[in-house]
Amino acid sequence: MKKSYDKLASLFKRKGYIWGPSPEIYEGGVAGFYDLGPLGTMLWRKVADTVRMNYFEHSFYEITAPLIMPKKVWEASGHLGGFTDPLIKCIKCGSVYRTDKLITGLFPKEEVDGLTYKEYDEKIEKLGIKCLKCKMQLSRTVPQDMMLKTTIGLDKEAYLRPETATTTYLPFKRYYEFFRRKLPFGVFQLGKAFRNEISPRHGLIRTREFNQAEAQLFIFKGDKNKWEAWSEFKDAELNLYSCKLQGRGLRKPKQVLLKDAVKNKLLQSKAYAACLGICYKIVLDLGFNPKRLRFRQHFPNERAFYALDAWDIEWHSDFFGWVELAGVHDRCDYDLKQHAKFSGQDLRVLNNGRKEVPHILEIAFGIERLVYCLLEQCYDEEKERTVLRLPPHMAPITIMVFPLLNKDKIPEKAKEVEDFLLEEDFYAEYDGTGSIGRRYRRADEAGTPFCITIDHQTLEDDSVTVRDRDSMKQLRVKISELPEFIEMAVSGEIDF
Ligand SMILES: [Zn+2]
Repeated sequence: MKKSYDKLASLFKRKGYIWGPSPEIYEGGVAGFYDLGPLGTMLWRKVADTVRMNYFEHSFYEITAPLIMPKKVWEASGHLGGFTDPLIKCIKCGSVYRTDKLITGLFPKEEVDGLTYKEYDEKIEKLGIKCLKCKMQLSRTVPQDMMLKTTIGLDKEAYLRPETATTTYLPFKRYYEFFRRKLPFGVFQLGKAFRNEISPRHGLIRTREFNQAEAQLFIFKGDKNKWEAWSEFKDAELNLYSCKLQGRGLRKPKQVLLKDAVKNKLLQSKAYAACLGICYKIVLDLGFNPKRLRFRQHFPNERAFYALDAWDIEWHSDFFGWVELAGVHDRCDYDLKQHAKFSGQDLRVLNNGRKEVPHILEIAFGIERLVYCLLEQCYDEEKERTVLRLPPHMAPITIMVFPLLNKDKIPEKAKEVEDFLLEEDFYAEYDGTGSIGRRYRRADEAGTPFCITIDHQTLEDDSVTVRDRDSMKQLRVKISELPEFIEMAVSGEIDF
């Protein structure tokens, strides 16, 4: 059955995952801003925590920096003036479009990554693209600044951060002391960033306010083949879609072991390859289907001029094609050198007696994209029901508790079971409304993996039925054994 995006989006709205654009009651909201409802927020938190734990397990510590920084910071980072989107305008009615999105919106098969502005205009002309509203000719593509401006105090010009990374680099000297003057070390931030997109689209995939989880590894250039995380990932096999493969028009990526990718110089260092490995592990931990994933290398003209290499992990959406979930970047020594220059501070540190500016390797995730893509992947329509097959460990509510009948002390017993599970730190919720079949459907649509039903037998022998969302099969379990049973069921160790 072909899925429809509208059906998907309306389910996510109805079940309290994604609302908006916000604020909905004022003129239908502003494009690029969304509310996460109760279940959306719980899922968001699980996604964020999965990324967070993985970073921490690979020796990245979390920090928190301000969202607003003075103008000078953004001049140093290159965002002011250099951080732009390709914008095209109708010469008659003045409608504005983002050139690349306009092209791919009308011609999904067209490749627009890495094109110059002139090449955009050539494509617009070749494809005969006109204004969508009045069918008149479009102007030339021009750069549009994406920074959101604000004022500190009376007149100090400042900007909301367009990424967390820059604000992570600034306390570099503090990290150096915290990590007892030993490189490499890693730091990350999980927090908001803002981009004044021209035409934000595709729901949570491209918004004006979003959360990033960006990890930065500070490492000396000469040590890039000596990072300890490498040993964990050298045998990992990734679906790599190099520039070379893309350029030859061979549409298929190749499965490559990371150790071979480093040996063949497809990836330039072991530390960088390990960052790809960490990125991949996170995406798998979140429950993404490996068959819909690929790492796509940026073309040299697509990545920042200072970057040595850049790969995106992309997931294939039924509605939007390949969507970037994260980028892995070798940023060289550019950032710290820029901030040293603009701040007048020496950001070199000692490496074997010589002063040196370290390199930075970055893993950059967008959290809301992960939330949307995971929801899309898990959405399933069957003959009888719509079901959100979220991996049990990611589902906002793990267990629904139902009384089979609303009499004979069955509801009281069911409430008791709910309390017991809450006390055991499970996300459990009681539902006694409507037929039992309806309650199952509601739980299926919300993505809740397990439903417990309390019936007359429960009153006799303290056993309940546990129903599995995916197989719809039931098993009878003693209440006292529920915590262990559910934990095993969440990790997939129970065969329903
Ligand atoms: Zn027009």
